[in-house]
Amino acid sequence: MTGQSKESHEAGGRRGECVVMKFGGTSVEDATAIRRVSQLVKRRLRHPPVVVVSALGGVTDQLLNAAKSAAGSRLESAREVVRHLRQRHQTVASELVEKQQYECLWAELEPAFDMLDSLLDEIAAAGALLPQVQDRFLGVGEYLSSKVLHAALLRAGFDVTWVDSKQCLVTDEVHTHATPLWEETTERVRTVLLPLLHSGQVPVLGGFVGATRDGVPTTLGRGGSDCSAATIGVVLNARRIEIWTDVDGVMTTDPDLCAEAIRITSMSFNEAAELAHFGAKVLHPATIAPAMQHNIPVWVLNSRNSESGGTEITAHTRENGRVKAITTKPGVAVFEIEPSRRLRPDLLRQVFDIFERHQFSLEVLSASHSSLSLVMSAGGDLPAVAQKLGELAKVRWESHKALICLVGEKIARSPEIASQVLHAIADLEIRLICQGASERNISFVVDESRAEEAVRRLHELLFPVGARAGTHPAPAVYQPAAPARTTA
Ligand code: ADP
Ligand code: ASP
Ligand code: MG
Repeated sequence: MTGQSKESHEAGGRRGECVVMKFGGTSVEDATAIRRVSQLVKRRLRHPPVVVVSALGGVTDQLLNAAKSAAGSRLESAREVVRHLRQRHQTVASELVEKQQYECLWAELEPAFDMLDSLLDEIAAAGALLPQVQDRFLGVGEYLSSKVLHAALLRAGFDVTWVDSKQCLVTDEVHTHATPLWEETTERVRTVLLPLLHSGQVPVLGGFVGATRDGVPTTLGRGGSDCSAATIGVVLNARRIEIWTDVDGVMTTDPDLCAEAIRITSMSFNEAAELAHFGAKVLHPATIAPAMQHNIPVWVLNSRNSESGGTEITAHTRENGRVKAITTKPGVAVFEIEPSRRLRPDLLRQVFDIFERHQFSLEVLSASHSSLSLVMSAGGDLPAVAQKLGELAKVRWESHKALICLVGEKIARSPEIASQVLHAIADLEIRLICQGASERNISFVVDESRAEEAVRRLHELLFPVGARAGTHPAPAVYQPAAPARTTA
């Protein structure tokens, strides 16, 4: 959040009382999942909870596809997507609530679908998807899911109130990637949510969505409901922020890439922030910083397996000098820049200006007196960037690379880890190893096509089966072996 201040945070709120529960798309993908959510909320009623929810699983992707189709003159296929979404929400809603309540709920949902249809016309007429329109269009997903969840919780007998996130999260005007403004958001969240909490009601609101000071809808970037939850948690000085998802917690690597991934029971804010930044989708990168600044524990939990224990993220970590997790970020490009003379500060400024203008963001940098190597998240036009850089210095660049990061407190102080890793995947043509820029990160670049293999091999090396406890049938828990050693 921008303009966040400790003072304004201390000024109000009841420290450590409420719990913010954020449910991701897979936790509300259908009626069964939503009933599970209702059970989970029930368990927190005494805290009390504030419920933040994402769009139903897959809905944001589908909305985005529809909007792009409309912009690309494929209006009929865009309309088909909206028809499908209308039907899906009808089915889920009708399975959750009784006929009379359904009528009331549908009276609230139907105008949203009509709005989607008219926005499609607007997009098609413009022949382009403008960021402002994208925000209005995508935000409907969270409106729908929050209304449906609210109805389901009412049906379950809870004292719940639906809250419009646009009334609570005041953001800057960076459409599609907005950031909440601290002072305005604090004031709104407290004005709207505190009276509800004090009167024993459970607020339910959509994540991902906010509005500018002028009330124009914005979104916080893909996966941004985590960020909504963290913002609200910090403003309300919550006891904890819970991110309910479809995996047992933060895992040693993405379980979609490596079935052997195991749950990490606890990690530090810094480790989690590093992990989120370097590609672990389980947490939006902007989730951890506000929680860390105000020391509010974040829990990552499985809504399908609430007994798993989850991952606790706090200021502390139990183990130092050990790798906690492996992440991978595809779609990066490596640039090697060699000026004819020494590397000067004005050249660096010019280089970064070029990257900024083309919306490339820096991942890793390594420099000597005469050359500069950068790993950048690819933004716009790579050859155009290379050409501009070429006017300043000799440039070599390669795209379709993936950044692999090992994350763990103080691992950069253990040279044997890097050495063992290099040994294990030497045949994968590792590029640009970076160790020591951060205490808790060792990163390197491989070809995108070899990234999954690299992750799997490293996982096998760093989390060998023998080092785990309680695998089957109980959920697996990572209990690290002694720090890695190289053999002579
Ligand atoms: P939600 O819809 O609940 O927000 P996301 O899809 O955003 O869920 O995040 C959960 C997914 O993140 C998991 O299904 C998993 O595939 C992926 N993921 C990537 N890295 C990790 C990791 N280190 N630990 C756990 N999940 C991870
Ligand atoms: N529904 C949004 C997305 O899919 C926000 C979120 O799920 O956090 O990106
Ligand atoms: Mg997510």
